[in-house]
Amino acid sequence: MSAFLYIETHVSYNEKSPCVSNNTMREKLIFDLSRSGRKGYTLSGDDLPEMPLDSILPSRFLRQTPAELPEVSESEVVRHFVRLSNMNYHVDKNMYPLGSCTMKYNPKINDYTCDLPGFSALHPLQPSETTQGALQLMYELAEMLREIAGMAAVTLQPAAGAHGELTGILLIKKYHESRGSKRSKLLVVDSAHGTNPASAALAGYQIISVAGNSDGRTDLDDLRSKLDGDVAALMLTNPNTIGLFEKDILRIAKMVHDNGSLLYMDGANMNALLGITRPGDMGFDVVHYNLHKTFSTPHGGGGPGSGPVGVSEKLLPYLPVPIIEKNETAEGTTYSLSYDRPESIGRMMNFYGNFAVLVRAYTYIRMLGPDGLRRVSENAIINANYLLSRLLERYDLPYPKPVLHEFCLSGDRQKKAHGVRTLDIAKRLLDYGFHAPTIYFPLIVSEAIMIEPTETESKETLDVFADALLSIADEAETNPALVLSAPVTTPVKRLDEALASRQLNICCSL
Ligand SMILES: *Cc1c(COP(=O)(O)O)cnc(C)c1O
Repeated sequence: MSAFLYIETHVSYNEKSPCVSNNTMREKLIFDLSRSGRKGYTLSGDDLPEMPLDSILPSRFLRQTPAELPEVSESEVVRHFVRLSNMNYHVDKNMYPLGSCTMKYNPKINDYTCDLPGFSALHPLQPSETTQGALQLMYELAEMLREIAGMAAVTLQPAAGAHGELTGILLIKKYHESRGSKRSKLLVVDSAHGTNPASAALAGYQIISVAGNSDGRTDLDDLRSKLDGDVAALMLTNPNTIGLFEKDILRIAKMVHDNGSLLYMDGANMNALLGITRPGDMGFDVVHYNLHKTFSTPHGGGGPGSGPVGVSEKLLPYLPVPIIEKNETAEGTTYSLSYDRPESIGRMMNFYGNFAVLVRAYTYIRMLGPDGLRRVSENAIINANYLLSRLLERYDLPYPKPVLHEFCLSGDRQKKAHGVRTLDIAKRLLDYGFHAPTIYFPLIVSEAIMIEPTETESKETLDVFADALLSIADEAETNPALVLSAPVTTPVKRLDEALASRQLNICCSL
């Protein structure tokens, strides 16, 4: 675990940044702050009955020696964790320009609603007469998402984008199987997010990569040559991961459907589409959404996500159970969970999805309304194009403008001239008080720097960020050693990346 902690505590201080300046910040372990006998709580004790522990647990499960816990006062605990939180980087502190992963500001009202006791104190096994509000919220959220993407129905079960992909692909598999057709291949475009081929492989498919053209879009000739009777579906991201709209999408959909295949849209990032256009109208049969990106739930560091899946008419019978149904009777409207779906692919998750994330997304959509959602996308697109226009003089843009909500620069110029790689530029941004953008993705751009400012940043913030990247371009010319050694102002300096990745591998395999 310590490797994770170490890596997550990037902190960035600079006069230009809104962060507090304190280069020497270090924090002791809470165990080192501990003093014997110090307490952060009081219990009256007198009126509580004595309850010997071994009356609750068999004695073989009881600890023989007291647990070694830190003994600290309330103020010490609070200050310790506030100091740690200040050392970390988060979207409440400053811009988080992660391309593809949409780290937008998350309105606090989302947390207010999801903390309401009627939601937060529910138990998933409560009888549905007592959970009508929660069921109504889920039903209405699915309806709103359905409308936003123009699909026939939506399931809220999957717990993340990749999980939504797996769900969508299993639906496609079931569709072909139920028609007696065995198709073994899935086509994935080469700019796709890595989860696309991973999910396809997990569902048992052979993955065939489709090339992009010099415009950065799907190469139709390559696609045509790979569409044979064995292809179950094409997975596409639109706008794709370099921020470009697949303008031939209607032709692509026709080619795919004429081949008896289905069309899957990776809709993890819908920040350019809301209220403007819909995957369903483009001919997609399946789409997954990332509520924790487009619809504002804090994410990163493995936090809970939600990856609902929308489907076209053809796939309705196969949706995961349970389905939430709305029943209109003479006594009024009620909501219930239906398991009566003989052709369903089954359950994708315990219970009904990550409910708190659903409440946040519901709140976000209701607060904005249809016009507000459209403005989200319009502003995300304007912000990305403004930022790009400021950076173009110093950084290469491998594929032509205009972009939608994100863009992908290349650090090739800096690497060739001065030996400064994209990794170094990203590290140096930490010194300027910014989180690094997504780097080295998509794989089709060499030394990729992929930036998505989102609609929630002001022009002033975008300018400070652009100034930082422009100064780093200067530094790469005048003082490359500085950029190569960055970050220099963070509590944790440059890590031994090879060692860190070995440690991470160990952590992940534990
Ligand atoms: C983030 C992302 C995913 C995966 O979503 P997770 O919730 O991280 O599993 C898939 N595709 C794209 C384009 C993404 O940006």
